[in-house]
Amino acid sequence: MADSLDHRADALIRNSFYEASVTRAADDDPVLEGMHEVDVCVIGAGYAGLSVALECRARGLSVIVVDAHRPGWGASGRNGGQTLVGFAKDEIFERQLGNQGARAAWAMSVEGVALVRERIERYGIACDFTPGYLTVATKPKRVPDLRAWMESATSRWGYDRLSWLDTDEIRARIASKRYLAGVYDPFSGHLHPLKYCLGLADAARREGAQLFAHSPVIDVLRGARPIVRTSKGEVRCRFVSACGNATIGNVLPADIAARVAPIASYIIATEPLGNERADALIAGRAAVCDNNFFLDYFRVSADHRVLFGGRASSTGASPLQLTEEIRKRMVDVYPQLADVRIEYAWGGFVDVTRNRAPDFGSIDPNYFYVQGFSGHGVALTGIAGRVVAQAMAGESAAFDLFAQLRHARFPGGSALRGPVLELGMLYHRLLELF
Ligand SMILES: Cc1cc2nc3c(=O)[nH]c(=O)nc-3n(C[C@H](O)[C@H](O)[C@H](O)COP(=O)(O)OP(=O)(O)OC[C@H]3O[C@@H](n4cnc5c(N)ncnc54)[C@H](O)[C@@H]3O)c2cc1C
Repeated sequence: MADSLDHRADALIRNSFYEASVTRAADDDPVLEGMHEVDVCVIGAGYAGLSVALECRARGLSVIVVDAHRPGWGASGRNGGQTLVGFAKDEIFERQLGNQGARAAWAMSVEGVALVRERIERYGIACDFTPGYLTVATKPKRVPDLRAWMESATSRWGYDRLSWLDTDEIRARIASKRYLAGVYDPFSGHLHPLKYCLGLADAARREGAQLFAHSPVIDVLRGARPIVRTSKGEVRCRFVSACGNATIGNVLPADIAARVAPIASYIIATEPLGNERADALIAGRAAVCDNNFFLDYFRVSADHRVLFGGRASSTGASPLQLTEEIRKRMVDVYPQLADVRIEYAWGGFVDVTRNRAPDFGSIDPNYFYVQGFSGHGVALTGIAGRVVAQAMAGESAAFDLFAQLRHARFPGGSALRGPVLELGMLYHRLLELF
């Protein structure tokens, strides 16, 4: 399963606008060979792993990061770039942790966006960060849900930056008749995800972390001094942090891995539309996301394309097959884009938990994992890295807040998880028709 998922993920990245719009160094990081010794071994060079590396280096710990591919190969190099506060399903926090816990978690999610902005500044990462975020409702029955969410965020979870937009106001901001209401957040925003990830990788190297590419971790021998074994070498360390996301496979114990299911999500990029035409689509070029179960998310890139994402699937169908379907969804929003060419289409696996809350935990006191960002990882992964590094330093209050969340396993084992999920999604798709 893990292996075929890895291959499917590889196929999904081939026609990525992000890969086409960055210049990677001529040589990848070296392959890990032989025996190494450090304080911390991080598995995965996405945002989460790189954040652990940066935070550990800031605390004087020596760090090795090993990736099965290379930095930004996973979701961190493919996503919608939406950099936002909150969680995929905010109510879970209040339900499981009470109001105080929910407020603390929300404050950390806000710190997550602040951390992205701070790192961009501190490390000079040119990744086109643009502030402004619109959450919108397309259906009458979803308008009260949006209103209730905004009221909870404001009065129960302590976030006072949101403003309500009625139908006229949202239509003044988005040149589409599809939206009935919206909530504007000036602090959240969007960025070029792969540029951000490669910038974090550069920063981690500069801060003294050693990065290795094309070095898949095969297993972790647990103990007082764990050994992380890769295809050609091994790392002996004091702490392990597993940040391999949806494709980590059977490195983690089966009961932990079963808390996450890989759901493919796809994005298309239009041809460049020119400054004026692109500006006319969304006021201030804010990012947009609707509040449906199968949501559409879109934004305008720095080179004036529309990047439009959506269409969840557990099977990872080829994005080429889905290009026309997503293009139609984009034209539903913007009929004025019916004539534009689609130049790129790609996808990736979102690591989703059953309750849509992130899953942080420890397998042993010196072996941490973070997973299940459920489509809200751009900002939250930064915080995940910070709280893991704090926990390694013995300050575990923030880590424990998340680790208290209860997570159920997906049914069906690794072979059946896909088909079972597909059935569940079909059910939700039917509900959305009404
Ligand atoms: C199409 C798509 C759109 C999305 N849109 C958004 C969005 O707009 N906003 C948002 O907040 N979130 C979004 N997300 C989610 C977000 O991208 C992720 O939550 C986040 O990038 C997860 O980061 P990560 O570091 O945990 O994992 P990844 O970036 O997936 O990194 C994991 C790394 O671990 C490596 N790895 C895996 N297994 C092993 C192993 N055995 N040995 C060594 N290395 C291994 C992989 O090669 C990979 O590089 C989206 C995701 C997708 C796929």
